Amino acid sequence: MEPSPELDHALALVRRWHDQRPGRRRMLDRDEIRSVRVLGPVQVRLRTLHEDRFYDFEEGPAPEDDSPVEAEPEDPWGVTLDDVELSAMVQDAEEQRTRWPELPAIVRPCSHCEGEGTVRCHTCGGDGIVDIAGCGECGGGGKVPCRDCRGTARRKVRVRIRRRFRFDEATRIHEDESDEVGPHVLLHLVDHPTPGEVFHEQDAPRIQRYAGKGSGTSYREAATPMAATIEKLLKDAQPEQGEHIAHQWLSVTRIPVYALELSRGRTAYVYGDPPKVSPPGLLRPSWLVLVPLLAAMALLAGAAFTFFWLVARAKGQ
Ligand SMILES: [Zn+2]
Ligand SMILES: [Zn+2]
Repeated sequence: MEPSPELDHALALVRRWHDQRPGRRRMLDRDEIRSVRVLGPVQVRLRTLHEDRFYDFEEGPAPEDDSPVEAEPEDPWGVTLDDVELSAMVQDAEEQRTRWPELPAIVRPCSHCEGEGTVRCHTCGGDGIVDIAGCGECGGGGKVPCRDCRGTARRKVRVRIRRRFRFDEATRIHEDESDEVGPHVLLHLVDHPTPGEVFHEQDAPRIQRYAGKGSGTSYREAATPMAATIEKLLKDAQPEQGEHIAHQWLSVTRIPVYALELSRGRTAYVYGDPPKVSPPGLLRPSWLVLVPLLAAMALLAGAAFTFFWLVARAKGQ
């Protein structure tokens, strides 16, 4: 086809793709390309960090002083905690992360003696009598001081909150700013978020509504279908039972895709950085096509050899 900046750009991308694995990828020839179309699918990506919280109590020794018993805290969400380094958590893209912030310790009734301070004497089984004599261990009372709380009936309890974070990501592709793309080759992009021209970015502890639509930001008036997709993504990002949303990030990006029309109605899509070509098998070097053929021939030759060898052996006997 006639030279054009689009063609040059697309060929440069194919060249870079080819050079990553020159032995297994065929470079496209300029003459093979009949036309170039530049598509600009728009990727909507919503990333959500979910959090769930539980109290974790760890009973320790008796308190040093005579501080009184306190009620156990109940609502882990009512506590103000230090901010976690959210962005690091997302960039690492680990699916789950757990933090254990420590709260001030509390004093709770001892669980061993159930807050009594004494337990049943083991020597006399609580009767106070051993062999018709008074029990020497408990002095006949049938009870001895609890060893765990040293008879104070109270224990110091370490209080931590287990914060478990779960990250998830939802992506939608629009062919342009209007229609959402159905089953399509470009859906490859869903699993391979590629850098592109960023239209809109938004983040908040919880995104209530898409601020790009007609808000006078860098993003121009979004077509209604895309805004609807975004609103639906936001609505669908519901926390599971017991979870809260810790933070959300929304981005709307245009990803340039070159559609190269080849002979026999074939189309190669080139996109991304590092560049990818879709469908991946389209530009296979010709020697790779020969591999199955050569393998079949070798198999046939082997079978024929075995056959003649068996015949010759049968004749020899
Ligand atoms: Zn005790
Ligand atoms: Zn006793």
